[in-house]
Amino acid sequence: MKNAYLNELLETVKKRNPGEPEFIQAVTEVLETLEPVVEKRPDLVEAGVFERFVEPERQIMFRVPWVDDSGKVRVNRGFRVQFNSAIGPYKGGIRLHPSVYLGIIKFLGFEQVLKNSLTTLPMGGGKGGSDFDPKGKSDGEVMRFCQSFMTELYRHIGADTDVPAGDIGTGAREVGFMFGQYKRLQNEYTGVLTGKGLQFGGSLARTEATGYGLCYFTDEMLKANGKSFEGKTVLVSGSGNVAIYAVQKVTSMGAKVVAMSDSNGYIYDKNGIDLECVRALKEKSRRRIKEYIETHPDAVYTEGSKGIWTIPCDIALPCATQNEIDGESAAILVKNGCFCVSEGANMPSTPEAIETYLSNGLLYGPAKAANAGGVATSGLEMSQNSLRLSWTFEEVDERLKNIMKNIFASCKKAAEDYGMAGNYMAGANIAGFLKVAEAMKAQGVV
Ligand code: NDP
Repeated sequence: MKNAYLNELLETVKKRNPGEPEFIQAVTEVLETLEPVVEKRPDLVEAGVFERFVEPERQIMFRVPWVDDSGKVRVNRGFRVQFNSAIGPYKGGIRLHPSVYLGIIKFLGFEQVLKNSLTTLPMGGGKGGSDFDPKGKSDGEVMRFCQSFMTELYRHIGADTDVPAGDIGTGAREVGFMFGQYKRLQNEYTGVLTGKGLQFGGSLARTEATGYGLCYFTDEMLKANGKSFEGKTVLVSGSGNVAIYAVQKVTSMGAKVVAMSDSNGYIYDKNGIDLECVRALKEKSRRRIKEYIETHPDAVYTEGSKGIWTIPCDIALPCATQNEIDGESAAILVKNGCFCVSEGANMPSTPEAIETYLSNGLLYGPAKAANAGGVATSGLEMSQNSLRLSWTFEEVDERLKNIMKNIFASCKKAAEDYGMAGNYMAGANIAGFLKVAEAMKAQGVV
């Protein structure tokens, strides 16, 4: 980075947040692309917007005690980082995964601020979670954990304050348990969580939204560059919520998905992935993707999820987790002729991987723009809850499509306006930042 002011700010962030590499990585990527904004907008520097932007408004950490099925007391750590509320109530998911610690939640909260801004809906950014691992736990254990988690969290959230949602490890089951406990403690029936069941305030198409939105965004990016999904070979990592609906939509757009993964390994099916089989394994019964080959003799399973990127493809859609594509995997993708990477997961590409995409002229759809369809539809769920009505699947899907189209257009335009045409990562960071920055400036030093 050439800009001395931003370099100094980054040094302060590094000193203030030791031992949090993911957070530093996310901040570095954003500040690097904001150099032209610093030059063009001295008023934002003067108002201290950049310094405030990289410091969360509030960080909450708490004990989550619960009792397992054998009667043993277990203790996890809970987090909620309320990062920025300049343009709306804090909004962002809850991640339940053993790798969760403050640095992961802060990186996700920081990204969420920009992502929510890009949706054009009035939502600030936040994120929460716990190092609890729902894998292998009974429904009763998951419920007791969720109730204990909410017993502390409920005092910090609210439909007009902070509205959590799902993320890795938090699906409809967990959101349901958390909602039930919130309602009981607060004696209030409000849209305090999104991703709820359809019987109690959930929105149609929320489950599909992140995966579908990723395909709508990518389709816009392809079209703007004279290309399409039609007839293309695609890799989709992960086999969770985002991955499953990305595969469904991209297949309906004429592409063939040949591989998917979980945290143990990946399957390659040259005939095209049989999504119903993956859904039966992962969505309905929480089994391992390896079992796919038992019913698909042409498919191959390989241990180790990173190997998925060695399969030749035209388009890669990482939909599993952070830093899943490193520089080495990115170089293999390029060598094999991949021309587009678009991110369903949050920060799935390391800085070296991004550098490889950009220097080789790949079309690159950054997570905060490409996967914003999930939170956008959560925003639509909030609107429906406030209006006390529900839109049809088609209505929500149509709004989602328009939002993704607009997000792509604003990334493209911001990149062009700031002299980085075609760099949609820079465009997403600049467009997302400017809206929040203007609001922060207008609201004074808070
Ligand atoms: P899920 O928990 O439904 O699925 C996660 C999937 O990724 C699982 O298949 C999991 O495998 C796999 N996975 C986890 N770690 C690895 C790894 N190291 N290597 C390969 N696969 C791995 O989560 P979501 O689908 O909801 O989330 C996926 C990503 O998308 C996350 O980065 C999340 O932050 C992001 N995202 C999600 C949104 C949403 O609406 N759900 C919105 C925007 C972003 P296993 O079954 O073995 O654990």
